[in-house]
Amino acid sequence: MQIESNSVVTLHYTLKDNDGNIIDQSDDGSFLYLHGAMNIIPGLENALTGKTAGDELSVSVSPEEGYGVKDPERIQEVPKEMFEGNDDIQVGVQFHAQGPDGAAVVVTVTEIQDDVIVVDGNHALAGVDLNFDVKVVEVRAASEEEITHGHVHGPHGHDH
Ligand code: ZN
Repeated sequence: MQIESNSVVTLHYTLKDNDGNIIDQSDDGSFLYLHGAMNIIPGLENALTGKTAGDELSVSVSPEEGYGVKDPERIQEVPKEMFEGNDDIQVGVQFHAQGPDGAAVVVTVTEIQDDVIVVDGNHALAGVDLNFDVKVVEVRAASEEEITHGHVHGPHGHDH
């Protein structure tokens, strides 16, 4: 069967940046998602529409169709004294902070200067071109319950 809305798709994939570095990969071919439910980034989902089990494809996804472009407003300099008593602050450390709209966001420390710490609230893959090598392993119809919940159930899916 072809991949369409409400298909449960099993993929094997490797994700690389433009320099060929592996960013992410499915380790045992057991990555499942519900097609048409925004479980995966739009650029990859669109490319998979109409494919069937056994199909292999290479997909290049721009940031606009991936995790978005980097928003400079999400990069902030925070006075160092706000981190007083916290010895764990170093480049690469992630923590939860409150975004401009009050929602919780994950920020990453990107730079430590004399009196400020630079934190970046963009997604780690924002602004990155994504190159997927994908093999479609299996396609099945989603159950009513999966469609209602908007995600896949079962051993490699959502566990309630
Ligand atoms: Zn569920």
